[in-house]
This record gives sequence, C-alpha cells and structure tokens, in this order.
Amino acid sequence: MDSLLIGPATRKQAVFAGTCALLVLLTFAIAGQRAHQPLPAITPFMPMCALTVFTTSGIAAFLLGARFSVTQQPMLGALGGAYAFTAITVALQLLMFPGVFTRTGLFGAGPQSAAWMWVFWHAGFPLLVILAALIRDRLPSKPIGLPRIDVWTWALIGVPTALAAALGVFAIHANLSAPFHAASETNAVSGGRIGLVICSLDALAIAVVLLKGRLRTVLDLWVTIALLASLADASLNLLSMVQFTLGWYVARVFSMLAPGVLVCLLVWEVTALYRELSEAHASLLHTSTRDALTRVYNRSYFDDQFRREFDRATRNGQPLSLVMIDVDNFKDYNDAFGHLRGDACLSEIAKALAGTARRPGDFVARYGGEEFAVVLPNTGSDEASVIAEQARLAIVQLGLTAPIPGGQVTISAGCATNGQNTLSTLSTPNALVQTADAALYDAKRAGRNRVQSFTPRQ
Ligand code: GH3
Ligand code: MG
Ligand code: MG
Repeated sequence: MDSLLIGPATRKQAVFAGTCALLVLLTFAIAGQRAHQPLPAITPFMPMCALTVFTTSGIAAFLLGARFSVTQQPMLGALGGAYAFTAITVALQLLMFPGVFTRTGLFGAGPQSAAWMWVFWHAGFPLLVILAALIRDRLPSKPIGLPRIDVWTWALIGVPTALAAALGVFAIHANLSAPFHAASETNAVSGGRIGLVICSLDALAIAVVLLKGRLRTVLDLWVTIALLASLADASLNLLSMVQFTLGWYVARVFSMLAPGVLVCLLVWEVTALYRELSEAHASLLHTSTRDALTRVYNRSYFDDQFRREFDRATRNGQPLSLVMIDVDNFKDYNDAFGHLRGDACLSEIAKALAGTARRPGDFVARYGGEEFAVVLPNTGSDEASVIAEQARLAIVQLGLTAPIPGGQVTISAGCATNGQNTLSTLSTPNALVQTADAALYDAKRAGRNRVQSFTPRQ
C-alpha cells in the first residue's frame, strides 16, 4: 500500500501549501526588518521551544519510520532519520544549555557546547533532507523481504540518531571555541560564516527537493515548507543573535514549525487513511450482505437477521411475519428465453418486491434460486397478507411476458406470523420458515399467482 504522502498533490493542496509558504516568507520579511528590536525577556521560552521541537521531531521520526517500514519508500525513512537527528541534537542542546538544568549545563558541558549543538542541529537537518531527496528513487521501493526492511530502517533512522549522540559527545569534549559571539551587537554577523553556511545548506536543500521532486507529491510540498521555516530560522539567527529580540523569538517559532508541519501532515494522512478504511469497510459490509444478481439481501444476511428479528419479537411480545415467495413456472421462462433474460427477470422481480417492503426493519432477501423472503417485523398476519398481495400485484404490474398460460410472469406467496402465544410449532425461526413454505406450496397447489396465509388455531 502506498502512502498518501507520496501521492500526487491536488490543486487545492498545492494552493494551501503555497499560502503557508507565503505566510512564512511574509513573517520572515517583517521580523527580519526589526530583528534587533528588544522584547520582554521570557526565560522559559527557549526551553519550551526546544522541548516542543524535541517532541514533534521525535513523533515525526517515529511516524516516518513506521511509514517507511510499510511502504519501503526510502525518502520517508531518510526523512525520519533527519527528524530523529533533530530530536537528539535539540534534546542535547537543551540539556547542555547553561542555566536550564544546571548553571553550566549537564554532562560537564562548556559554555560553547549548547551553541555547537545548535549548529549541528541546523546544519545536519538540511544535509539529511538533501540525502533523503537524493535517494528517493535509488533504493528499491518494492518488497524484497522483511530482513532488508529492518536493515534499512536501522540505517536510515539509527545512523543519524547515533551521529547526533556522537556530535553531543564531540561538542562537550572537543574543546571547541564558541561559534557565535552574541554579545557584540555592533557586529550582528560575527560568527556569521557558520550562519551563512547553514543558510546556504537550507537553500541548497530547498533547491535539491525542488529539482528532484518538482513539488509533485504532498510530501514534496510540505518538506519544502519545513525547509523554508528552517531557512527563516537560521537567517533570523544570523540577523540577531541577541536573546529576547524580535528576530530571536520569531526564529524559535520557525524552529518549531519545521517538525510541526510534518507532524500535522502525518496526522492528516492517518485521518485520510482512516476515512478511506471506514468507507472500504462499509462498502465491503454492503457487498457481503447483498445478493450479487438482484442486489437485495443475500441468504446469509437473511439467516442472521431473521434470527435476530425473531428473538427481538419474542422478547418484546411483538408479531413477526414472514412471506416466502416463489416465481411461478420459472423453469419454463428460462427454457423459452434463456438464462440471461431469466436473470434480468429475477432482478426486476427483486426490485419490485423491495418496493413493497418499505417500513424500517422490513427487508427482502433472496432465499435461493427464484425464491425470495420478505421479513416484516412488528406486523400481524392480516397486515402481512395485505403486503404479500401488494407484492403479487406489483409483479403482475411489471407486465413481464412469459411462455405460460396467462402469458405473464407471476409469483406465489405463503405468509406465516409468529403471533403472541400461538402454536408451539411457530416458536423457532426454522418453524416459521417451514410454515410460510407450507403456505407457499398451498398457493402453488391452488393454482399459482396467489397468496396463502397460515392461520394458527388458538
Ligand atoms: P413452480 O411454479 O412450481 O415454482 O415452477 P418453477 O419452474 O418455477 O420451479 P422449478 O423449481 O422447477 O424451477 C426453478 C427454476 O428457476 C429453475 C432454475 O433454472 C431457475 N433459476 C434458479 N435460479 C436462477 C437464476 O439465478 N437465474 C436464472 N435465470 N434462473 C434461475
Ligand atoms: Mg422454487
Ligand atoms: Mg418457481
């Protein structure tokens, strides 16, 4: 089964994604102009954002990995890897950040460690997305056997996870000097070379995704928006490295957007698949209860539902009527016109019968060959005879010619009712069927094209 993510994007989806992209660019343009503007310092904002990025990236990685193991689409696995990498690097950055858990950061981190984790996070994500875009067509996408899926899942998701952890160790122990000098506001782009490299990687990733995918699939659209958000995040960080400025705040919002859009997309896909599944289930249920030729209920539905109605009627002390119907001299009809016309005739008869049993709970089923059963809950014997007579007339009114005396297709019907406190012979569903059947054969013996009711003796 293919993922909806790698299905072609509809026009509506493209317009919606385009609007979101414009909003990202517009927000970036507005915030970029006043990036230095100081705003009130909300100390928990950074940890809150980092936690959000960690959670959403973790969810995106898990869901993409799961999709990959089902669809074997390499791009989904590799993107899962990119988000797993993001989740680990951002978590390590948070743990190492001075003043969040301890004054200097956990694991013996130096003052520069968290800043380097930020660099690894922002450089690693576009690099891994580029990798995902490049291998989208290269790995086999057809099932080749389960063990290979596991190997690929480990390779695509496990390796970036391990890499992120290794970079964490590196950031603590490699004695690196600080990548940014945020304090020097006079030169906002100090340390800007790294920032520029990150922005270029984001721009390159957008270009590669556009070239390889040409925005054809739903996934291409939203990965591009995630990358746009990353680019806006990195660019705003370049413009203002000082904490609690407008640029700094908006950059953090963009950092949450990059994994956020993918999680929304994956949840949308689950919902859409759930809808498809419900519809398929409903249609399957419909088909499994219908007779293929006549479209009325089939024998297996009759057996279940008639028993259920019988039990309900017995419990509630209500009458339940059954009309057994048989097409008269149908063998002659087939012999004269052939089985195909015989089939068409049965379909017309079934349609006409369905039209006579209209109350909620009433139903018509094909009992076998050219025999039908009409089940009438909460219907007494007099009423059942009236409905059976209406059914007989409905078939006469069809005016289907037949090679028999009278020249017309007719039916015979036998009615039986499970009346309150009546004979013990009517106390089981089978007994009611047998009794209606007996009445039907009485109608046949009496000359056909008629209704015969079984009247219990009190
Ligand atoms: P009676 O009035 O006594 O019921 O006579 P009959 O000819 O209808 O009864 P009989 O049981 O001898 O024949 C029933 C015929 O119904 C024979 C069979 O070929 C036909 N029949 C049963 N199912 C189908 C079907 O699905 N399509 C067609 N075309 N004919 C069917
Ligand atoms: Mg028959
Ligand atoms: Mg017949």
